[in-house]
Amino acid sequence: MSSPSTSSPQPELRLRGIGVSPGIARGFIHFTGESFDKPDEKIISRDQVESEKERLKQAIVTTREQIAELQSEIETSTSDHAGIFDAHLLVLEDKAVIDEVIRKVETDLLGIDRVYFEVIDGYLQTLRKISDPYLRERAIDVEDVARRVVRNLRWPGGHGPSTREIDESTILAAHDLTPSDTVSLDRDRVLGFATEAGSSTSHTAIMARSLNIPAVVALHQFSDHLSPGDEALLDGTHGLLILRPSEETLKEYETLLQEENDLVSGLQELRGADTLTADGHKVILSGNIEFAHEVEQLNQQGAEGVGLYRTEFFYLNEIELRAEDKQAENYTTVAKSVAPHGVIIRTLDIGGDKMWPGLAGEPEPNPFLGWRGIRVSLAKPEEFKIQLRAILRASAFGKVGIMYPFLCNLSELRHANRLLDESKRELEAEGVAFDHDVETGAMIEIPSAALVAEQFAKEVDFFSIGTNDLIQYTTAVDRVNDRVADLYQPTHPAVISLITKTVEAAHNNDIWCGICGEAAGDLLLTPVFVGLGVDELSVGAAQLLRVRRAISRLDTAECRDFVAQIADYGCGEEVAAACREIAMDKYPELMG
Ligand code: PEP
Ligand code: MG
Repeated sequence: MSSPSTSSPQPELRLRGIGVSPGIARGFIHFTGESFDKPDEKIISRDQVESEKERLKQAIVTTREQIAELQSEIETSTSDHAGIFDAHLLVLEDKAVIDEVIRKVETDLLGIDRVYFEVIDGYLQTLRKISDPYLRERAIDVEDVARRVVRNLRWPGGHGPSTREIDESTILAAHDLTPSDTVSLDRDRVLGFATEAGSSTSHTAIMARSLNIPAVVALHQFSDHLSPGDEALLDGTHGLLILRPSEETLKEYETLLQEENDLVSGLQELRGADTLTADGHKVILSGNIEFAHEVEQLNQQGAEGVGLYRTEFFYLNEIELRAEDKQAENYTTVAKSVAPHGVIIRTLDIGGDKMWPGLAGEPEPNPFLGWRGIRVSLAKPEEFKIQLRAILRASAFGKVGIMYPFLCNLSELRHANRLLDESKRELEAEGVAFDHDVETGAMIEIPSAALVAEQFAKEVDFFSIGTNDLIQYTTAVDRVNDRVADLYQPTHPAVISLITKTVEAAHNNDIWCGICGEAAGDLLLTPVFVGLGVDELSVGAAQLLRVRRAISRLDTAECRDFVAQIADYGCGEEVAAACREIAMDKYPELMG
């Protein structure tokens, strides 16, 4: 690879962000800084109002065609995430926006380009101020659509100047990328991207994973350090952007890349295999999804069903999906596509960092300790029953389980089950088919629930441990606050102790226990989970075969001894060191 710029005297610089799509890319920085430029203000006469309205209509038509084209491109290249552009079409055709723009053109007698820009800019300012990061990130979808409309107003018929040429072997650097920027990336030239903004729940990050493009986001103010044409290494696995890598670093990464490729191809032989320990003990290995179409990717990796279907993402995104029929259709699609395995559908878990203003009401000082998960559902029984009925209806078409999030008290579980029974009776009276033995489970993700797991276990069919929250609530460390990230320890002895207690309570009461938080795919913890006799691990698609391989190298009795050995350790670092030792001994090639 030869550098297109003269070699820089500046030394290597490592910038750390959040790796949202794994993989390593080596290339040259191309900074893309297209901004949402403010059109000039133009005074118009009353006679021009109609032609201005017509220009907007035409720009919307062109934009709709462009979005449809992108949508079909992504449908051809990957079946995932084409649905995101449905959300873009909704923004494009939002009647409130169009009406406001037209009203302003009529009253202020200003050219429509500037008025459209200002109306959208107003919406963007409001969206960016929302404290909920998920909703805040929707601003980029709105901006994406608006930028197209403004461009099509300026250059009608989609005949705007083409965007700047991108050289081969490019690492695209931007303040932020929109989902349509991401899907339009020229994959032959753009090897990866790095952004200053973003988080792992953004559509752009989701899209990068689905398109398999290494990506690192949240590299705050990195533009101060880069010059176009700088050579760079992008490590999406470890969240690193290495500018002007030294010869030594390049060599190190060449070896890493080769090892990574060899590893991934070597793991493919496990796709159709059972997940067995070295001594033949079976663990169910399923996957986590947020959107129905992700099942395909899980199936390709040989997942045994879906262990966690988070329903709030599509619920927050696509208003029409909140209707019972639409939900039932969505759940049925998943239930059919995972057959002969099952899907565990988690009821709505909004609140915390996933707020929906329509439900949330007043902002809360401590949203993670507030109105979240089952608390919201129980306070809105009619809406909750819509979801329960939809899940039950899907159970007639495949193996479906229901699980309740954020339980802290047995009375909440009982209340939820009463509403489930009511929903069953209603469906029965209406003659609607459903599985009468549908399994119900409790997510154990709050210490109070873990501590009374014995009692919970008597009233459910399974447990699924939500380690993401269990860690946060046990250690009092906000899971989305990177200032205290080093205290967020999956290996904290208190966390391990609560997991142990939960698994034991399940087994004492003859029910199964799974883990569906991120820790399920953390190879450092696999020996602990095997030693505890966890029955199911539900992980992201990219992690699935790695976990299967790790389990295949472990011996149950040895892992049990290991769990006994760490039981009286006092801090997370000690447990992590012991886990690392065993992992490095059993599956060093997976530990990076
Ligand atoms: C968890 O808390 O571990 C979990 C799986 O739920 P979520 O990450 O959606 O809160
Ligand atoms: Mg949770």
